[in-house]
Amino acid sequence: MERHEALEIVKKQLTDHRYQHTLGVMETAIALAKQYGADEKKAELAAIFHDYAKFRPKEEMKQIILEQNMPNDLLSHNTELWHAPVGAYLVQTEVGIDDEDILNAIRYHTSGRSDMTLLEKIIYIADYIEPGRIFKGVEEVRELAKHDLDEALIEALKNTIQFLLKKNQPIYPMTIDTYNALMMKKK
Ligand code: GDP
Ligand code: FE
Ligand code: FE
Ligand code: FE
Repeated sequence: MERHEALEIVKKQLTDHRYQHTLGVMETAIALAKQYGADEKKAELAAIFHDYAKFRPKEEMKQIILEQNMPNDLLSHNTELWHAPVGAYLVQTEVGIDDEDILNAIRYHTSGRSDMTLLEKIIYIADYIEPGRIFKGVEEVRELAKHDLDEALIEALKNTIQFLLKKNQPIYPMTIDTYNALMMKKK
């Protein structure tokens, strides 16, 4: 699928602000794919569609999680986590993208998972550091991403977990798994 076609499809699903974010993720993901030797076309499409389900009604997402037998611990955690796995499902069924690498990059862009692929890491980081992101700690992650994707990922996960702890929120187990897997891989 060509970029302009993909963008036209996703634009209808998003607010203008979220569409601008998506363009930032796309540019960042392509640059990271170039730098780290991932498939640039897959990075482009995964980035374009990563937040496809962001504005679906909660009831619709809940229905899909149940009907498609997605991990049901999702339902007891923050609804913000739902658009990633539901997005992968809808991008396959509504947009017709069947590439498992692309779908997994969408599916795991919020929590990560242990043993992430290069493409999954790129989408996770691009989502975190795209030029429109201005939150505390983002500059450090941008710097790390220039040299070491895993270090950037660890820093981003630490920030996310710390942010949730401060807000007295539960941490989704897969987020912890992602962090632990990366830490234990370090020598
Ligand atoms: P966005 O869709 O571009 O805004 O970014 P993400 O998909 O990465 O994240 C969506 C939201 O999920 C953010 O507000 C994160 O703080 C939140 N989030 C990420 N991981 C977890 C987690 O483990 N638990 C909870 N409760 N929220 C999380
Ligand atoms: Fe997202
Ligand atoms: Fe990042
Ligand atoms: Fe995003």
